[in-house]
Amino acid sequence: MPELPDVEHFKRYADSTLLNQEISEVDLQDTKLLHSTTRKKLLNTLKGQSFENTSRHGKYLGLQISNNGWVVLHFGMTGQLGYAKDPEEVPRFTRLLITFDNDYHFAFANQRRLGRIQLVDDFKNIIEEEDLGPDALRISKNDFRELLSGRRGSVKSFFMNQSNIAGMGNVYTDEALYQAGIHPSLPANKLEDEQIDGLYERMQKMLKQAIKAQANPEKMPEDWLLPNREEDGDCPRCQGKIKTAKVSGRTTYFCPKCQRKS
Ligand SMILES: [Zn+2]
Repeated sequence: MPELPDVEHFKRYADSTLLNQEISEVDLQDTKLLHSTTRKKLLNTLKGQSFENTSRHGKYLGLQISNNGWVVLHFGMTGQLGYAKDPEEVPRFTRLLITFDNDYHFAFANQRRLGRIQLVDDFKNIIEEEDLGPDALRISKNDFRELLSGRRGSVKSFFMNQSNIAGMGNVYTDEALYQAGIHPSLPANKLEDEQIDGLYERMQKMLKQAIKAQANPEKMPEDWLLPNREEDGDCPRCQGKIKTAKVSGRTTYFCPKCQRKS
């Protein structure tokens, strides 16, 4: 599922490809993805305009439209962007195909159709509408400390709730907790100040590195959990094995030796 590093990678991809080109055609192949808008409204809003800017908050990507407003994309469980001159070269399962007057195509692909396309006047509206917490990459250490301390649930469930902090999902939450040596089921209010600060520092560094690696696990450091994320996989930091458990309803990968419950 695309999380913060994936969506930030898509944002940078969009920045480097599709800005400032006039939209000549809009081909919406699946109305199931539309959220509080209609095919007609989307087509009328986009045709003849261009994308001027992009923004991201958590797992939401915004494309600013030249006349006004934003298209907001959410990738759901799977999703991808493409930009190509040859329409055969756009990703499979493209649900929205936008053609520019330079004959290039921009594709929003969404295999499992759990993603979302919507229009908003201001990208910031999405934060309120979806009740999103601060973005995990932009939150300050003080705000992070304040948010996390006093929470009764597990530290994993804190991250999984987008209203607490936006952008972290199952995979990168496990990674941050692994790197910080914190057990995923440890109650958030049991964390020492030092552990919270360490978790913050690791999370920031890890997110930046993951973005640099274009959210591709194969390009990530070998001593991370991600390249070793399998049941009974070898922990790259000790002699132990990676284990799984259900935490906050999700299959969680962790090392029982490296990640302590206290
Ligand atoms: Zn270990």
